[in-house]
Amino acid sequence: MILHYGVVDIHVNNIKLDQTCGFFIDRINKRMVCTFKVSEKFAAIQVGTFGEPDPEEGEGYCPYSDLPKHSARLADLIAQWQLPPHVVEIMRKSFRISPFSVYDLPDLETYYKGRVVLLEDSAHGMLPNAGLGLGAGLEDVGVLAELMKRFPDYKDLSTVLRLYSAIRVPTATGYSQISRMSAEQYYATTFGATGNHFLMRLFIGSMNIGLYVPIKEVYDCPTIVARAIEQEKVDQSQIKQIIEIRFGADLVESAVIDFKEEWQN
Ligand SMILES: Cc1cc2nc3c(=O)[nH]c(=O)nc-3n(C[C@H](O)[C@H](O)[C@H](O)COP(=O)(O)OP(=O)(O)OC[C@H]3O[C@@H](n4cnc5c(N)ncnc54)[C@H](O)[C@@H]3O)c2cc1C
Repeated sequence: MILHYGVVDIHVNNIKLDQTCGFFIDRINKRMVCTFKVSEKFAAIQVGTFGEPDPEEGEGYCPYSDLPKHSARLADLIAQWQLPPHVVEIMRKSFRISPFSVYDLPDLETYYKGRVVLLEDSAHGMLPNAGLGLGAGLEDVGVLAELMKRFPDYKDLSTVLRLYSAIRVPTATGYSQISRMSAEQYYATTFGATGNHFLMRLFIGSMNIGLYVPIKEVYDCPTIVARAIEQEKVDQSQIKQIIEIRFGADLVESAVIDFKEEWQN
């Protein structure tokens, strides 16, 4: 899927935009346009299309250099989708348009190997529909920084990376799954286009007033890291106990050494 973002000066172009956010979703043809009134002066527009060619080499994330060509092309396209004239006008008069290819990275089982560690989108690039991607990346950074603070010695690097991955994989995988679910909801027609549209309005309305899904809580990195360290101590002592009961105390020491060596590799 390609998303195009346009930015327009509504004041100069005399475009009247009442809503802060407008979502125009065509579930049958799987296409969507959103408008955002950023201030009295500026607005943004997002146009989502399937089946368009990927942005040309070097154009991804960068504004189009041939602005008149793309503003006319996209405005004509959404005019065919029968959007309100002011929405078409926002696209036509945009002074900057940037294309984004949207990818959904497969869920990874670990975010590190040896001394290489993945953070943010490189670890869990997710669909943008739930608005969780950036926050997830900041959480990665917070957790890694907290672990490095607690284990500053280079020889503990393997512990830092192992705990980082153990803490972040389940959380970020959960966010990716929520994002996939939200993306599906945008175009779902399980109850007919109107039925699903009503449900989505209900869902977003409930979310805005804190019903149905809890509003995301602050991700408290120091507490989360402290808990993971405690949990690991408990896990290790339980493993020790099991080995001791099954194979005797002598084996515990060599098993712990093997285990440490394995992680360090
Ligand atoms: C359309 C869209 C809407 C989104 N909406 C939201 C939202 O509402 N809320 C939210 O929380 N998240 C949102 N996200 C997700 C958020 O933007 C990302 O999760 C976040 O930007 C990831 O940060 P990052 O540092 O991992 O990667 P990026 O922000 O992608 O940064 C990577 C940088 O590396 C540069 N780069 C790439 N290759 C090279 C190279 N070879 N050499 C040098 N530089 C290179 C890129 O140009 C880029 O600047 C959205 C994403 C998209 C695409």
